[in-house]
Amino acid sequence: MYTHILEQVEVMNKMAKLKEFLRQHALWVGLVAVAIPLLAHLWLQYQSLSQLQSTLPDARKAHMRRYLADVLDKVITFYEDQANEVLNVPASAFHHKYPDPDFNYRKAIDHEQVSKHFANHQFKGARLLFVGSVAGPTEPIYVIVHFYDPISCSFWYRPSGNERHAAHAAAANWMAMIMTNAPPNSKSIRLTVDERDSQNRIIVKPIVDEKSRVVGVAGMFLNKRVFIQDYLAAVVRETNPRWFPEEHKDVVVTVGNNDGELLYSNQPFEGKPYEVGEMFPFIFNDWYLGIRMRQMTEVEWSKRYFFTNISFSILTALVLIGGIILTLRAASRAMKLSQMKADFVSNVSHELRTPLASIRVFGEFLKLGRIKDSHKIHEYGEYIETESRRLTQLINNILDFSKIESGQKTYLFEEADVEHVISDTLKTFEVMLEQNGFKINFVKPVHPLPPVIIDSTAIAQAFINLLDNAVKYSGDSKEINVRLGEQNGFVTIAVSDSGIGIAREDCGKVFEKFYRVGNCLVHDVKGSGLGLSIVKHIVEAHFGKVTVESELGKGTTFVIHLPAEGSAMIEPEIDRQNLPNEGTPLGHGLQSGSEARN
Ligand code: ADP
Repeated sequence: MYTHILEQVEVMNKMAKLKEFLRQHALWVGLVAVAIPLLAHLWLQYQSLSQLQSTLPDARKAHMRRYLADVLDKVITFYEDQANEVLNVPASAFHHKYPDPDFNYRKAIDHEQVSKHFANHQFKGARLLFVGSVAGPTEPIYVIVHFYDPISCSFWYRPSGNERHAAHAAAANWMAMIMTNAPPNSKSIRLTVDERDSQNRIIVKPIVDEKSRVVGVAGMFLNKRVFIQDYLAAVVRETNPRWFPEEHKDVVVTVGNNDGELLYSNQPFEGKPYEVGEMFPFIFNDWYLGIRMRQMTEVEWSKRYFFTNISFSILTALVLIGGIILTLRAASRAMKLSQMKADFVSNVSHELRTPLASIRVFGEFLKLGRIKDSHKIHEYGEYIETESRRLTQLINNILDFSKIESGQKTYLFEEADVEHVISDTLKTFEVMLEQNGFKINFVKPVHPLPPVIIDSTAIAQAFINLLDNAVKYSGDSKEINVRLGEQNGFVTIAVSDSGIGIAREDCGKVFEKFYRVGNCLVHDVKGSGLGLSIVKHIVEAHFGKVTVESELGKGTTFVIHLPAEGSAMIEPEIDRQNLPNEGTPLGHGLQSGSEARN
């Protein structure tokens, strides 16, 4: 039973420790809680992006391939349709058996009918047309090919030897079919292409009569320039933005042939003519249609995509973490401040209640006249006076603080002699301090101090706060030094004690509102944590500054620096030489009060 209780206590202790740890390290715990999922997210994103990086070029190439197929399909289908229409010469225009004893082979083709057909079906893509047949007086034995010039719209065209040869070669199979009168396979009656002579590329259409017999051929010579510039380029221009909406200006489309000759490109480029290429089907079948990006290859593009995305993710994560750190810091500050405020309320209530109770009791004793001993009466009166003074000082501080916080604290600046202000203030405290066993060494300057423009009441209050602290934190040592001086155009008021001192890390913080050093020596002393923050505010309102030098166990010196009248605002020398970074302690346990500006 006993051990069971012990175990329970141990568990509770551990829980309490854990809670305390989490409370104290809330910032780090919060950060870790956010950073771990964030890093996991980043890692997953990295994985998927690298996978994407390896597959993206293929996907992009497939997209490009589909684009090329679309362009080719559009141009070639258009050409096929046009060729079918243009070359669809009526079968009645061919008389391949012409039973005329004076066989006139020119009459084997009805030129008028063919001309009419070609004139009605003009197509810019055909640079030369021809019709051909086989005819003879009794049997078809003469091969006849007549050329038609689509520009002059006449049969008065003298073909070159190559053209004639190309036309004959292209039509040869069909001619043979006419000659042998062989019935064609209906499936084979379609457009054929002959590109053996690359300068004379020809599409041929067999003309069949109503009995499905081939009676003639019609053919056209392809115009390369028109094909590329009027048809292909137009299709590229029209389809490009649709297929590559964001980057169409960067897309290079090229046409080249097997000899490595570049025949077309939609824009200037350097390097390889294509990243992905497709051979032309049907016509120009030794040509390729190619595509690439002007700036970079697909692999480069996907690398850039990867790096852009991953950098953006990292940046977002960093911004997020930064934001969270700031939020957590603000939250932790707010928590600390609220804790300080709570301590302040309890400290102040305690500080008010205890002396007030004593004052009431001593006052009652004196009122009832029960105390006859004059020494005792004097002692009680003195206690009441001291405590009332302290309470006044505390209440003044609280009122001042509330004015400072609400921005209502005002100052009445006028020319004054600091020596007068300080010695007058000291006088009101001297007797009381000496009666409490304190020895005050007031070191006046050798030469009279220059006049300063100050709010004497406020400076006196700042000085009282320093003096009050020197008394409170003097410990067993009862000696306080007040030294007036001049330094680099500043009048200085230094208050030194040989008391408990302030640790390096606390020197910068003692000027923060509600801040009280958290050691047991300070805990035994009553305080609100407002005194020094008010000193700092008052001094800075005078364009001066307050500095602190301290060594634990040896004592502390606070110095108020006030700009002397007519002096330029020069920083005190002490800080110029030893100015630390924010919160950085100086050597030998001394601290500059530059932190007081924080
Ligand atoms: P408090 O009412 O607590 O004295 P202050 O703002 O005047 O508030 O001082 C803030 C803290 O600075 C004190 O709680 C104390 O820890 C430290 N401190 C101030 N003056 C001295 C001093 N002369 N010697 C040692 N510590 C001091």
